[in-house]
Amino acid sequence: MKIEEKLYTLRWKHDKQSHIKITAAEVCLDRCGTEWKRPCTAFCPANVYTWDGAKIAVSFENCVECTTCVLGCPYRNIDWKLPRGGFGIEWQNG
Ligand code: SF4
Ligand code: SF4
Repeated sequence: MKIEEKLYTLRWKHDKQSHIKITAAEVCLDRCGTEWKRPCTAFCPANVYTWDGAKIAVSFENCVECTTCVLGCPYRNIDWKLPRGGFGIEWQNG
């Protein structure tokens, strides 16, 4: 089963408030862009992080709570918390 098909089996209860914040946008722009090529845009299975040409855009609604980004960002520049109570992944079937 492809990852896109697995993601389709998940259901979320979306919060309006993000549970993910980039701590220092300038690190993404300069150091990480040069030294690491912004790996969050590749390792997140749900494509939460995309580079829009000036900053990392965070589609927190798509997060599958795998916690990869907590360890995967080489600068520990992602402030990730579990979604607030009652929000986030509701159920999975895959
Ligand atoms: Fe920014 Fe971390 Fe992503 Fe690099 S991996 S672009 S430092 S959030
Ligand atoms: Fe992506 Fe997993 Fe981090 Fe959510 S916890 S943003 S799915 S890497």
